[in-house]
Amino acid sequence: MAATPAQHVAVLSLHTSPLAQPGVGDGGGMNVYVRELTSSLARLGVQCTTYTRAWKPGLADVVDIEPNHRLVHVRAGDFDVPKEQLIDIVPEFTDMVSHHLRTHSAVQVIHANYWLSGLAGHSLKHDLNLPLITTFHTLARVKALHGDAESRERDKIESSIIGCSDAIFVSCEEERDQFRTLYGDSPGTVEVITPGVERAYFSPGSRSGARSALSLGAHPVLLFVGRIQPLKGLDVAIEALAALRRSDAVLLVVGGASGRDGEAELQRVNALAESLGVARQIRFVAPQPHHLLATYYRAADVVLVPSRSESFGLVALEASACGTPVVATAVGGLLSLVDDGVNGFLVPERDGQLFAKRVAQILDDGALADAMRQRAVQRSAAYSWQGAARRMRRVVAEFAARDLVLCS
Ligand code: UDP
Repeated sequence: MAATPAQHVAVLSLHTSPLAQPGVGDGGGMNVYVRELTSSLARLGVQCTTYTRAWKPGLADVVDIEPNHRLVHVRAGDFDVPKEQLIDIVPEFTDMVSHHLRTHSAVQVIHANYWLSGLAGHSLKHDLNLPLITTFHTLARVKALHGDAESRERDKIESSIIGCSDAIFVSCEEERDQFRTLYGDSPGTVEVITPGVERAYFSPGSRSGARSALSLGAHPVLLFVGRIQPLKGLDVAIEALAALRRSDAVLLVVGGASGRDGEAELQRVNALAESLGVARQIRFVAPQPHHLLATYYRAADVVLVPSRSESFGLVALEASACGTPVVATAVGGLLSLVDDGVNGFLVPERDGQLFAKRVAQILDDGALADAMRQRAVQRSAAYSWQGAARRMRRVVAEFAARDLVLCS
């Protein structure tokens, strides 16, 4: 007998809103993922209610994002609670979501994003007897591998969420392998739900048009897009610019400080640029609304993604969809998004010299650059949010025929 598809999903995005600006503060790939995946699911006819914390005054209680996708601002805690203290308001958030779910909707599945929402989702699962899907986006043990230690408390909580999730979503095979190595077999399924790219925004276009829109000339343009924090490796991009030894090259940096080390990192990279003598070649640009980024990708000769770790790496995919070669560290999801020598280069170490060598290859070899641009667009064609939503709908439908995972 075919499983009955669930018709209503509650999406938890406690610590940051899918409507917030990505590329600064807590806003990044997760916000884009929650908004695009949930809206794509809604377009398939599934009712979706996203719960996020009201993080500033003046927000409407409910926002109808589009048909079938509604966002609820949960008034839990003060507006300006630092991320490190958000754990304290999880019980209040959970109670308010529970009340809303009981009084407003007949939800069949919970989809929690990030460990703080996972903690809320875990309680709600028991409270309401519903299946729980968790997308962690980052995990404490993965961060620790790359020198970013997280608290033992977070690690413990993540383990208990894993032990009770009916499904865990990862973004690519590399993330699934890493998850299994670090956490072993989980009682629920581990599903690869590959993120997509919105082609209405991210598609090839005129480079000269994009450059004139951004007041850029015919000189080499390198681009870094994203949150500025040590993990993202803006320092490596700046070292690459210096190692390139092209005084006409420009590095565009689109994004802003993020996380507890964000402001310090911004100061550090500025000092680094001064000390390497490339400060005047760098243009910092305030975070841009998602749909305006295509102009930056189109204008660039190459996009640099020198991250320490990356569960997926939407920036690399968006650049490819715009036909721009990517030079990235050979880590995490970037391994699945960049085919070395095809749509860019993978660099084994976060070393400015190695990045510069690859950038110079693209700048100096027009035929190679043209071939990479073409293949980048082809390479990105396999990724769509609609495809991701279809896979999610299938997973959700299968819950109807399965027993709930019991807490281990
Ligand atoms: N982004 C944006 N505006 C900006 C900078 C970044 O919309 O000014 C978006 C970018 O397009 C991408 C996301 O933020 O979709 C960053 O995702 P990624 O997976 O690259 O990194 P994460 O933030 O998850 O670490």
